[in-house]
Amino acid sequence: MKNILTIDVEDWYQSSVDVLLRKGYCAECRPIPSLRVVSNTMRLLDILAEFGAKATCFVLGTVAETYPSLVRRITDAGHEVATHGYGHELVYSLDRESFRSDIVLSKKLLEDIVGQEVWGYRAPYFSITPASAWALQVLTESGITFDASMFPIRRGLYGFPGGGRFPHIVGLANGRSLLELPVSTLRLLGQNLPFGGGGYFRLAPYAVIKRALESLNRAKQVAVFYMHPYELDTEELKGPLPAENRRTRLFRWSQRLNREKTESKIRRLLSDFTWTSISDWADGGNGG
Ligand SMILES: [Zn+2]
Repeated sequence: MKNILTIDVEDWYQSSVDVLLRKGYCAECRPIPSLRVVSNTMRLLDILAEFGAKATCFVLGTVAETYPSLVRRITDAGHEVATHGYGHELVYSLDRESFRSDIVLSKKLLEDIVGQEVWGYRAPYFSITPASAWALQVLTESGITFDASMFPIRRGLYGFPGGGRFPHIVGLANGRSLLELPVSTLRLLGQNLPFGGGGYFRLAPYAVIKRALESLNRAKQVAVFYMHPYELDTEELKGPLPAENRRTRLFRWSQRLNREKTESKIRRLLSDFTWTSISDWADGGNGG
């Protein structure tokens, strides 16, 4: 069966340290997208092409604005483009109207580039949580039909513990509904354990990831997996920076850990399983 592959198109510091940046914690990090996001994404697209894999790419608004040709390269390669919001804001830190503005802006940016409607959304840091579940209504009012923002685990920055583990339709108080695609987890000893991408994929042995995916597919459940292009980049984050302290050094070290192994793990993942985009899966391209 086909599984769902998603890619959050952004730099590592948008993904990992925006919150810390606001605290003045990461002096070298800027919210401006770097050229690395282009080269890393192109490299990942080349690898996907080798295996005939398709994905839904959640492109950050600032990345689309700075590198519109990258967005066109993604659609030209046959992948689906969706929005990761404009400014990588935590949803639960925004009020309803600020969130609406972020969605409308980022959606229109992408639509103007690719010349077609954008249907999907993933919140920065999976930050649709029980406290910000109101955001789902705003999404449907902004023309979004599917969402991949929920991670049914409990974490400091994110998580929707108790949320559904598999793709499902969410009916909302405004009378609309939305297809929700939670990141895959493994159910073990009454707990949802994360394995479906990002740092969990980078740090866990491939054999563990493979077994978790196989167990989902044996239960006839589609896996929803996520990646970041920067996780292929072994060169950045090397070497200490001026004015770094122990805490920031440790953080950068953890962000780099196992990046050397990521490409070979991705190749095994693409070879062992079949991957497609969310819309292809929802349209019934899931029977293969
Ligand atoms: Zn992100």
